Amino acid sequence: MILRTCVLSAAIAVTLMSTSLPSAAQSAAQRAEQTANPLLGAWSTPDGVPPYDRIRPEHYEPAFDLAIAEARAQSQRIANDKTAPTFENTIEAMERAGRELSRVSSTFFTVASADATPANQAIQKAIAPKLARLSNETMLDQALFQRVDTLYKQRAELGLTPEQNRLLEQTHKRFVRAGAALPADARARVAAINEELANLGVQFGQKLLADQKANDVFLSAAEVEGLPADQLSTAAAAAEAAGKPGQYLFPATRSAAEPFLTAAPNRDAREKIWRAFSFRGDNDNANNTSAEIKRLVELRIERAKLMGADTHADFVLADSMAKTPDAAMELLMGVYQPALVRANEELADIQALAAKDGITDVQPWDWRYYAEQVRSQRFALDEAQVKQYMPLDGIVDAMFETTQKLFGLTAHERTDIPVYADGVRVFEIREADGRKVGLFYADWFARPTKRPGAWMNSIRVPNGLLGDTPIVVNNQNITPPAAGERALISLDEAQTLFHEFGHGLHGMLSTAHYPSLSGTAVSRDFVEFPSQVYEHWITEPTILQAHARNAAGEPMPKEMLESLLKAQTFNQGFSTIQQLSSAILDMRLHQLTELPADFDAGEWEAAQLRELGVPEQIGMRHRLPHFSHIFDGGYSASYYAYTWAEAMDADGFDAFKEAGNVFDPELAAKLRREVYEVGNTRDPAESYKAFRGRMPTAEALLRNRGLK
Ligand SMILES: [Zn+2]
Repeated sequence: MILRTCVLSAAIAVTLMSTSLPSAAQSAAQRAEQTANPLLGAWSTPDGVPPYDRIRPEHYEPAFDLAIAEARAQSQRIANDKTAPTFENTIEAMERAGRELSRVSSTFFTVASADATPANQAIQKAIAPKLARLSNETMLDQALFQRVDTLYKQRAELGLTPEQNRLLEQTHKRFVRAGAALPADARARVAAINEELANLGVQFGQKLLADQKANDVFLSAAEVEGLPADQLSTAAAAAEAAGKPGQYLFPATRSAAEPFLTAAPNRDAREKIWRAFSFRGDNDNANNTSAEIKRLVELRIERAKLMGADTHADFVLADSMAKTPDAAMELLMGVYQPALVRANEELADIQALAAKDGITDVQPWDWRYYAEQVRSQRFALDEAQVKQYMPLDGIVDAMFETTQKLFGLTAHERTDIPVYADGVRVFEIREADGRKVGLFYADWFARPTKRPGAWMNSIRVPNGLLGDTPIVVNNQNITPPAAGERALISLDEAQTLFHEFGHGLHGMLSTAHYPSLSGTAVSRDFVEFPSQVYEHWITEPTILQAHARNAAGEPMPKEMLESLLKAQTFNQGFSTIQQLSSAILDMRLHQLTELPADFDAGEWEAAQLRELGVPEQIGMRHRLPHFSHIFDGGYSASYYAYTWAEAMDADGFDAFKEAGNVFDPELAAKLRREVYEVGNTRDPAESYKAFRGRMPTAEALLRNRGLK
């Protein structure tokens, strides 16, 4: 299972709460702006989609400014309402509010990630502080909070539906977790802490990027001998662009380091690349991140105490499916022990092969190279050969066919929808009876301005309150084919395709009435379940047999198919230990109640790894000095969520296997009803139990990873 960056929600979920009020307060100048700016006013596009064909970069900032002002006014109007608070004039009014802002935001943030031109980056930089200010103002607005709090205390007597009750509780919790319920001095301190944390996160990220750049490795022709042609040509071009023609440049990034470490026969060169990649943020220079880490953790401890939690981990997990750090740790340790056993078996295989090359002390920079030798001996898989049977179009057919078999949904390409870049395709998803479910924008190919990775985001979430038809976007970085050729993908890319479409279904199928409870707005340790469980269908032999075909239309040979599926469990001891050691250290670090004055992230990390018995040839997937997820990515005390969701997806798919039919209609209907449709209208643990009849166990995960 691959760790992907997935649901892009933080920036887009600024859907503040506000009504679409008439714009009577607007000045003539603003109205003129509005007529000239295609982002503002009504959109006369098919299905009311963003008019990307008419939007130019200079339209965004003025539209943001107007929409932010409108959202602020709407929020203040709710807060200062002279009548007593009711669910309708407060909670529901907040749901209706900020509509213009949410429209402008989702339109912009879609392109900000998929087409990060310098112009779009500049806009993002300019509006980020404005959005943060609005969010802080709203969440710490005492008049607004008092109304929410009054309703919260009366909630048993308000005659609310279960969803309304959930919305009230979630809204109240959001205010409380932002510090709104604290006394004035504590509130001010939390605001100051949040600001310092945000600055530290930015500083951490900037140091990391600077150190990564400083760690560029230039290699000679002799050092890169034996590398595949695609890596060589990329590295040669990069060196040339950097003014060192004839050399080979490898940046200290995962996407450059991992393929190099897998393929490079030159051991000294492997060590150079491994050191450059592993020591980012941990070098004896101005980019060392230890001071930022110490301060970040200290501030998180202080904030947790102000909020009345024992530790930062307790504070974070109170708003999750796992609920407590103990529950998360129990799963992590339950997988860790069998993974360690397997990792040591893998090490023995690697040592045996390395010994033939005269290597008696296998090092971290040797692991991937020798593991690849073991893999090719054992499975005889040639990635290039496999790709010949994996055309993108065929796998997309497989993806839509899976949706039809499970949920009766069909996909129909639309060519009348304006898109933001060449190559973006739009599909209308329909129910079996022809009713429109939503629009699915597919942006699968790489472009120079697209950020790396794969993700899903919503342009519009389905909801009953405003009657919106959903629009979801999937992004991936598949290499575009040469003119006239078929696009071919790897199994990993095919799994990603299914994964992101799983998020897309989650974003489209919600039946929630209220926008903020709709679609993928669920806790971090649940949001990957609908996407990861969907991945399982691409590795179903019947699906692959039907759709994995070469240019002549012949299906993938049986032996290749079997090897491909068997190889899925290869080297899983290594990957599991890498992932878990990062997750365990994240949790342990955020369970500390104080830091010693001489705290050093590197030393603390080394001591923890020794205590856990992590083989030094494996180490962590993300070492603390460059662990962006937890220091500038919003995943602090939450990296376990990947494993948590994997336990659910493995266990959830097992239900279909137990039924003896991976398209079992009754189970599929239950999966749709209890998981894809519910959004955040109830506790995710309840949703899982409603689908599976019980909470997940780690059994299926261990089996899928070949650890049992
Ligand atoms: Zn995901």
